[in-house]
Amino acid sequence: MLSVEEARERILSNVRLTGAEEVGLLEAAGRVPAVAKVTAAVDVPPFANSSMDGFALRAVDVPGDLPLAGEVAAGAGSLPTVLPGTAVRIMTGAPLPPGTDTVIPLEEAELLGADRVRLPTAEVGRYVRPVGQDTRRGDEVALPPEPLSAATLAVLASLGIGRISVRRRPRVAILSTGDELAAPGEALGPGQIHDANSVPLAVAVQDAGAEPLLLPGVRDEAAAIDAALRKGSAGADVLVVSGGVSVGRHDHVRAGIERLGQLDFWRIAVQPGKPLAFGSIADRPVIGLPGNPVSALVTFELFVRILLRAMLGLEGDGRLHLAARLDVTVAKDRERRAYLRVVTRPTADGWVASPAGGQGSAQLRALAAANALLVVPEGEAAGVAGAEYDAVLLRGTP
Ligand code: AMP
Ligand code: MG
Repeated sequence: MLSVEEARERILSNVRLTGAEEVGLLEAAGRVPAVAKVTAAVDVPPFANSSMDGFALRAVDVPGDLPLAGEVAAGAGSLPTVLPGTAVRIMTGAPLPPGTDTVIPLEEAELLGADRVRLPTAEVGRYVRPVGQDTRRGDEVALPPEPLSAATLAVLASLGIGRISVRRRPRVAILSTGDELAAPGEALGPGQIHDANSVPLAVAVQDAGAEPLLLPGVRDEAAAIDAALRKGSAGADVLVVSGGVSVGRHDHVRAGIERLGQLDFWRIAVQPGKPLAFGSIADRPVIGLPGNPVSALVTFELFVRILLRAMLGLEGDGRLHLAARLDVTVAKDRERRAYLRVVTRPTADGWVASPAGGQGSAQLRALAAANALLVVPEGEAAGVAGAEYDAVLLRGTP
């Protein structure tokens, strides 16, 4: 059995970055930029403007009562020249008119009738946003390889950039195997269960930044599995199969990968999920996940997510890790590293993790209730109450 690290290393050893495509800003949300930087073609803001609704004037003319000589609104194309000893009304975002050097907010002024205003002392440049305050024309704006956030898209938008080059999403074919499977929504025949892997794996693919392609489920027959493996790997960048990778008489996936391509390894010292086949068909990665739904989703998290992220140029699992103290002892297999499904919450003396429910590899409810995986190392027969372990946060809120 490979350790988790050895398996990850082998999965990542031949990663190819996906190509680039240009998309509009809205479509670029959450995508990974394929360029390291953009060069600003404009100043932001493009002109000095007011940061308040108020009055524009010369600072040397106040304190005092000044006559009002007009108004400048946001978007004003032509600007009055403001004579010494006078003020104009100005709105937030309006260009500072020539002749003025400061703004006094409405709240600090006292109107004396319709066209006179009493103004306190002012400081040159106060409430004025100078040209290029945020970005200067010619500045290089770095785009680190991480999913584009609303704030970074706002920077691009402010620079007038409407389209950006991003990494193409890896296309991931998803194939569930098993004679017992019926689609959710279908009535169960004798011996059947509902397929709880296809859609959840597709969602996990999306969550990793890739594009899922759901293939029709396939029966436990070598010929049918081979045909589906061939088709799946031909139509996608990565093929993810669930079920049929173990040692049962009807587990044909591992042998299928060997028949059609290369099998790299098929066992990892991890709990849940020992049987996990990794290889390639037609030079494209194929991962056979264990069929038990908890094992499938947890091993996807540990081994497929990092592969898809690496294809996008992203490092690691993109998860927050923190140290959490287990509150009860939980038995595990000594040989394997366990990823316990836990609820982790902050307390006065640090983060505490409680099992989210039964830890069996078919106990989906505990996975659904968990907000973290707690990592109990190989070599230990239990996660021990009071001991601290690495917790991998699966979502943002406890
Ligand atoms: P396998 O890996 O094919 O030996 O399957 C292991 C266990 O997971 C068996 O109990 C299967 O019935 C179950 N299983 C396999 N595929 C799925 C699936 N798509 N949805 C729910 N359970 C599954
Ligand atoms: Mg099976």
